[in-house]
Amino acid sequence: MVIVLEEKLNQTGYEEIVGFLKREGINFQEIEGKRVLHLTVAREKEDLLSALKSFPQVMTVLRTGQDYQLVKTPQTPLEAAGITWGGRKIPIIAGPCALEDEGQFIALAKRLQELGVQAIRGALYKPRTSPYSYQGIGAKGTATLNRARDLGLVVVSEVMDNAQLNVLYPVADILQVGSRNMKNYSLLKELGRQDKPVLLKRGLSATYREFLLAAEYLLAEGNQRVILCERGIRTFETHTRNTLDITAVPVLKELAGLPVIVDPSHGTGNWRYVPPMAMAAVAAGTDGLMLEVHPDPARALSDGCQSLTVDRFSSLLKKLQRVARAVDREIDGESEVTGYARD
Ligand code: PEP
Ligand code: MN
Repeated sequence: MVIVLEEKLNQTGYEEIVGFLKREGINFQEIEGKRVLHLTVAREKEDLLSALKSFPQVMTVLRTGQDYQLVKTPQTPLEAAGITWGGRKIPIIAGPCALEDEGQFIALAKRLQELGVQAIRGALYKPRTSPYSYQGIGAKGTATLNRARDLGLVVVSEVMDNAQLNVLYPVADILQVGSRNMKNYSLLKELGRQDKPVLLKRGLSATYREFLLAAEYLLAEGNQRVILCERGIRTFETHTRNTLDITAVPVLKELAGLPVIVDPSHGTGNWRYVPPMAMAAVAAGTDGLMLEVHPDPARALSDGCQSLTVDRFSSLLKKLQRVARAVDREIDGESEVTGYARD
């Protein structure tokens, strides 16, 4: 951390700030005479930054490091729910936005499994903008999630608050924290204490730092199995539901040691744009994809507009396999026989 002091600072003002640093046990070096001080701190805590800024003689405080530390530890490849995240293989989580009906969900689960998918998504609880929109089937859906698990699928389901954990913990292999809850710190602390992997989605307007600090909450409580998910951010563009920030993939992988996956369904809000953005994510180095797939999107109770039909999903999978090969990665699934594959 670097602090820039007022140009016409007198000795008393200088001693006051130096006295503060000494009392706090912070080592520092003078850079430009007595005007710029370089502070050696293990972690650039928000509280210290704020305290320094409160001194009238401090003009600027610049971060040169970070206030997160645990997320930096390399955790990849990460074994979570029997799947390797951040290895050569790129796992796919596919399924409907919400679990709507048992028969429909299990039939879809079987189709997805035939296509090579290992993990199915399906929320029992939906965070909806309007209270009049479909809110999810709730605890009634647990038996259906268990049936999907009996097929051998890994179940990913969203937990919106601490109370829902009682329902979801026994039936979800990976607990999802949705975008709206990325800053629900009491939920993050609770999930940090659980022995279950967490898929943490980026908040609608969260910076990388805020996203990583949310992950830090989980890690600080002891949960090491954290998967980050870029799902688009809110920008001035209104044509798409969100703006999928593909840059987040290389940046977050550089800043954190955690696997980073991408959700182009919520990232675009339109099924037409899901295939190109899914391919872009693979090309950019994603460690996984989350894709909404519905057998009948026009009748879906939520997010039908951004859901792929099974046929569209199946043809996308083949394209994704080709992109993955081009960047030395692999995607499971029934492979297309091409000249390249035969070679
Ligand atoms: C979801 O994945 O079901 C979801 C609600 O996504 P997000 O939290 O990214 O909006
Ligand atoms: Mn959805």
